[in-house]
This record gives sequence, structure tokens and C-alpha cells, in this order.
Amino acid sequence: MQQRTIPCQYFAPQKIEEALGILFRYGNEIKVIAGGTDLLVQYYDRLYEINHWLDLKNIKELKDIRINKNQMEIGAMVTHTQLEVSEDIKKYFPILGQAAADIGSPQIRNRGTVGGNIVNASPAGDLLAPLMAYDAQFRLLSIQGEKIVTAEEFFIGPKKTILEPAQLLTQIILPLPSERTYGSWIKIGKRKALIIATITLALVVEMAEDHKTVKDVRTCLGSVAPTPIEIKEVKKKMVGKNFNQLDFAELGQIVEDKISPIDDIRGTREYRKDVAKKIMIKALEEIDSACGGGSYINE
Ligand SMILES: Cc1cc2nc3c(=O)[nH]c(=O)nc-3n(C[C@H](O)[C@H](O)[C@H](O)COP(=O)(O)OP(=O)(O)OC[C@H]3O[C@@H](n4cnc5c(N)ncnc54)[C@H](O)[C@@H]3O)c2cc1C
Repeated sequence: MQQRTIPCQYFAPQKIEEALGILFRYGNEIKVIAGGTDLLVQYYDRLYEINHWLDLKNIKELKDIRINKNQMEIGAMVTHTQLEVSEDIKKYFPILGQAAADIGSPQIRNRGTVGGNIVNASPAGDLLAPLMAYDAQFRLLSIQGEKIVTAEEFFIGPKKTILEPAQLLTQIILPLPSERTYGSWIKIGKRKALIIATITLALVVEMAEDHKTVKDVRTCLGSVAPTPIEIKEVKKKMVGKNFNQLDFAELGQIVEDKISPIDDIRGTREYRKDVAKKIMIKALEEIDSACGGGSYINE
């Protein structure tokens, strides 16, 4: 086994400012740990490589879900279990709660955090597509100040983000949706629990005041590209149209055509493309029945 050359230090501050100071001081020499469910697996047999630890577990501010004017702020240390049971999440961002409920096992959901899921930036991270579909922004803090970025800006590759060593992800900011917003979350994997997704889809549709015309749409997928992606062509096809007159098969085909997944142990490129189309159609049908049902043009 390799030996550590410098003494390891462990910090567990109570205030964000203190954590930022420590991060600034140690830079690349320190690892941030939240629930540890990704980090400790990744470093299982090479923990000696981590010189110093910054544990966020005592920072209460990072554990809140709060509504501030017309937006929700979710602290980076909020666990998946918190997301799953929160009444505010159920009310405003139901598919985020459903996605959290699909993560791992109860033990993983009790320890794993939303911040860890985001910063780990696995293309298969379950919360990423729903967060993107709800138009999430991330608050990044360092002693130099605050930066707010969109999910699209934040993720730049598999396990790669724009987060700098001296920055912490502190909050996830979500604009409160209108009451006429509907969502569907679908995760495909080889079994129901403790499974890394083969493909995920988060579809969020906002209706206009007539409850029929599509006002806005976000179609986001995970595990089909190096980062979570939005299929913007779906928006172009749907916005301004009567939901009942949409051709669901055509919209499913757009999703299939616009993704370019790879083969891996969880599924081939062809399988992912075919499933993407099918789950898009299913998600549209779910939204259709949630908002009153109707007849489709292709019936
Ligand atoms: C058995 C098992 C099953 C799992 N199942 C699933 C699953 O079904 N779906 C899924 O999406 N994931 C799954 N995971 C992965 C993992 O549980 C989640 O990604 C979890 O959300 C990670 O959060 P964490 O708090 O444990 O992160 P940690 O492991 O503590 O941290 C992950 C990374 O993020 C960094 N980090 C964490 N918080 C911050 C912050 N606030 N600011 C800056 N950097 C930060 C850390 O330095 C580290 O690089 C599973 C893991 C295991 C072990």
C-alpha cells in the first residue's frame, strides 16, 4: 500500500464562509465530501490519494428546501430522501421527487445528496434530466463571490463540470412553475431498485391559460450523451399547438433522431434510440391523461 507523505486534515465547518476559506487555502489538495456515496466508491482502494477532507455535513444552511418569492432554493446537502418526502417538491416539482425516489436504495437515498449527484456529473445521474427540465440554475460560491449558471452551462462532459477547485455548489434554484405545468419522469434500467439508468427522460409541459395550447416544453434525457441534454426540436414542434392535436409518434421520432447514444454494458445505441422514442410517447400520454385527456391526431 502507498504511504501518505503529508498529514491528512479533516475539516467539518458549520458555516459556508468557513468552508470557502478552507477550500481557497487548500485548492486541489482537498476533497469536498457530502454523502460520500460516489466519492468513497470512486476512491475505495486509493483513499491515500486524498490529502485533506472538507465535509459539508455540519452546514445547516445547505440542508434546507425553501421558497423565496417565485423560486425554490434547494440546498446542495439536501438528501434524496428529503426530496422524495417534501410536500413542496411534490406540489411544484413532482418529477424531481419521483426521480429521487428511484435512486439506489433507502440507505443511499438517506446519505446521497442533490449536490453530490450534480457535481459527480455522471451522464446516468438520475436528478440531472429532471433538474434541467425544470430549468434549474446552480449557485456556485467561492471567496471571490457568487456565480449562477444553468444546468446546460454547468455540465461539460461525463463527470466533468465547470466547477472550480475553490468553488462550492451551494444551492439549486428552480423557478416556481405555473399551476398548468405537467411532468413525466421515466427511468429505464435492468431492474427496479439499485440500478444505474440505461436511459432517463424528464418531460415538463406548461399549458397556456386555455389549458389546451402548449406554452412551453422541456424534453430532457440522461444516459444518451456525455451530459444530460434537452431536445430543443420538440419545443419547436409543440409550442403554440393544441396538445390534443399533437402527433405523439412524430415527437417520439424526433427524440430518437436527435440523440446519438453510445453502446455500453447497459444497452446498445440502437436499443437506447428505440427506447427513447417509446418513452417519449409514453410520457406524452401520461401528460395527456394528467391534463384531462383527449383525442390524438393519429388515432
Ligand atoms: C449502491 C449505490 C447505488 C446508487 N444508485 C444511484 C442511482 O440509482 N441513481 C443515481 O443517480 N445515483 C446513484 N448512486 C450514486 C450516488 O449515490 C448519487 O450520485 C449521490 O447523489 C451522490 O451524492 P453524495 O452526497 O453521496 O456525493 P459525494 O460522493 O459526497 O460527492 C460526489 C462528488 O461531488 C462533490 N461534491 C459533493 N457535494 C458538493 C458541493 N456541494 N460542492 C462541490 N462539490 C461537491 C464531491 O467532491 C465528489 O466529487 C448510487 C451509489 C451507490 C453507492
